[in-house]
Amino acid sequence: MRSLIRGFVAVVAIAVCQAPATVPARERPPIIDMHLHADLPPHDVTAGDPALCRPEPCQGDGRATANHAETLQKTLEAMDRHNIVKAFLSGVDPAIVQQWVDAAPGRFIAAPFILQPGRPDPQTLRRAYAAGRFGGLGEIATQLAGVPPNDPALEPYFALAAEIDVPVLVHTAGIGPYLPSFRSAAGSPLLLEDVLVRHPKLRLFVENAGYPYQGEMIAMMYQYPQLHADVSTISWVIPRTAFYDYLEALVQAGLGKRLMFGSDQMRWPEKIGDGIEAIEQAPFLTEEQKRDILYHNAARFLRLEQEPG
Ligand SMILES: [Zn+2]
Repeated sequence: MRSLIRGFVAVVAIAVCQAPATVPARERPPIIDMHLHADLPPHDVTAGDPALCRPEPCQGDGRATANHAETLQKTLEAMDRHNIVKAFLSGVDPAIVQQWVDAAPGRFIAAPFILQPGRPDPQTLRRAYAAGRFGGLGEIATQLAGVPPNDPALEPYFALAAEIDVPVLVHTAGIGPYLPSFRSAAGSPLLLEDVLVRHPKLRLFVENAGYPYQGEMIAMMYQYPQLHADVSTISWVIPRTAFYDYLEALVQAGLGKRLMFGSDQMRWPEKIGDGIEAIEQAPFLTEEQKRDILYHNAARFLRLEQEPG
């Protein structure tokens, strides 16, 4: 009997020793990642490719994952390592989004990625929200197809999100993937004005904080208090100096309570840590401002009940 108990204790001890890989790093304060991708529309990334970088000529680091399963596994590992307690998760294929939700119940706010107006159509989405399959909308990335956010074809999406009161992520920025139909001109934050006027309660947040349209973004955020921004790829895809100049300008403008961390992780889960590091090492941010960006601003925007850390 005693040896049986000893064996049992040994098994438990092994299990406990292995547990840290799946237990959140609770010694770190919590982080919310407002911008994760479960999958992406087809733009060619081959397994092992270095991460995106701008401006050319430049050399990205890291290695693209080989498949969805590896992206999910490495993203969850990064979330555990950095104590990311909640993430806004955008996906093209609802089945893949559901795999992520099932893999980490309660951890993701699932949302449909929209590249073309009509796909999926708003009525299909309305049913998905009613069934509880999604908790957010976007990223709305029609800029990649040359369609600006104030295009009438997108109005039913914003109206639906305002009606059911879900957060909306929109790609309205000067930079994006190298796609033939992408238009920088369709990414001016001023193009959000029609949407914001029509929907004063819409919980809208802008990817890349509208980079590099600094003045336009400040104008929109001053004029429309419901508008928020996440830092997205600029926390790792552009030179750190350029990111800091932009972030510091927004913080100096007094917008530090409406900026949120978002990694914009696609196929390079190691970039989650790089984005967090960029915030944590920013010499012009106070500790309180860092915690606001990494957690508190998103918790308030998402109306999370508890705000630890
Ligand atoms: Zn994105």
